[in-house]
Amino acid sequence: MSRTTQDWQAADAAHFLHPFTDFDALAKKGSRIIERAENIYLWDSEGHKILDAMSGLWCVNVGYGRQELIDATTAQLKQLPFYNAFFQTATKPAIELAELLSEVTPPQFKHVFFSGSGSEGNDTVVRMVRRYWDVLGRPERKVIISRNNAYHGSTMAGASLGGMSGMHAQGGLPIPDITHIEQPYWYELGRGMSRDDFGLKAAGWLETKILEVGPERVAAFIGEPVQGAGGVIIPPATYWPAVQAICDKYDVLLVSDEVICGFGRTGHWWGCETMGTRPDLMTFAKGVTSGYIPLGGVMVGERIAKVLIEQGGEFNHGYTYSGHPVACAVALANIRLIQRDRLVERVRDDLGPYLAQHFEALKAHPLVGDAETCGLMGAVVLAKDRASGTPFASELEVGMVCRGHCFGNGLIMRAVGDRMIIAPPLVMTRDQIDEMMLLIRRCLDLTWADVRSRGWV
Ligand code: PMP
Repeated sequence: MSRTTQDWQAADAAHFLHPFTDFDALAKKGSRIIERAENIYLWDSEGHKILDAMSGLWCVNVGYGRQELIDATTAQLKQLPFYNAFFQTATKPAIELAELLSEVTPPQFKHVFFSGSGSEGNDTVVRMVRRYWDVLGRPERKVIISRNNAYHGSTMAGASLGGMSGMHAQGGLPIPDITHIEQPYWYELGRGMSRDDFGLKAAGWLETKILEVGPERVAAFIGEPVQGAGGVIIPPATYWPAVQAICDKYDVLLVSDEVICGFGRTGHWWGCETMGTRPDLMTFAKGVTSGYIPLGGVMVGERIAKVLIEQGGEFNHGYTYSGHPVACAVALANIRLIQRDRLVERVRDDLGPYLAQHFEALKAHPLVGDAETCGLMGAVVLAKDRASGTPFASELEVGMVCRGHCFGNGLIMRAVGDRMIIAPPLVMTRDQIDEMMLLIRRCLDLTWADVRSRGWV
């Protein structure tokens, strides 16, 4: 006899500890069981159709059910399901992917180090950055500067690089020699000034921190071009060029965490291209395989690769799944599909501007304090008073109220505090964007009715 939804929920609660979850609360409520997917839609075990405006978890950029990726997986599983790259061996898909990545990344990148995820990629960044300065005879350059409300993963190094206080509080993080500056969040920290002035001010915080630590001790600065998990925080246009100049001035390596922004999300292949930086290292994951199979890695700029290759000797670091042949085969199919269908150009020239128009119009909604997009990611701020930007009291959890309406109306949109965020698949059509916007408006209207009836405004 086949299991009912309740059976699945009971088994889930009995055995499965979910990531970033209050285990007890979920066990009482029961998980939503996702059963199948096609294009940009999911279906749950009760047969409800859901528009997935988060691309799974910022990753299913080419949409669900792509035959090219399925065929690449099965063919590689038959040919060679696994072999490692440790002991002077390699597999053809890993070599081919390394070659293709060096073609689709900015010109300073010719080498890649593969990992299994974005978090592992950022662990590799920490190891590699410190190794680089060691090899150059500068072991005192160990400190890595990151930002509050950044997300760089959940391993010890990833969570330390991240700027999530809730994560630091569990497990004695950050690890030594990782420090944070304030984020470039204009709406919360800079509304009294122009965006451009605020961008320069926020970049200045990096220089202040470098001087405080001592430039001779700073190894690198890491940042997401657009902070994703922190709430799609889009920095002012002045921010990243100023950060680049500061890194150049003090010879601090620049690391771009492209786990979300890579592979077309922002309308260029890489977020650093949208923002105008020239990073020394780039972390990637998610969109490299559109999430079909786990894969991550670090693009290593020639400045660093040359030192590690010519002077470094053995680099004592690696993962069983570094260059997993099936994951690499899927990545090859995925990237070729992105190239063939010109998805990056579509986001830049058509879908991105179209979504931006829709978000601009949302600013007239009585619940919306701000709305902004970058390529095919966007955020809507729910505000108690639009004119002054006064937020709702955080304990009201208005974002979660809105998310509840999304859930009930067949839309996956995420709440980060009171920022409602989307990052839909890059294969959407304009009609599907219209359909998504209708759902978003409906959920905002329902939330507005709720907050009014509860006397919160
Ligand atoms: N960096 C960024 C910018 C991310 O958004 C994420 C995941 N959301 C990670 C790193 C960690 O990736 P993973 O979950 O694959 O370890």
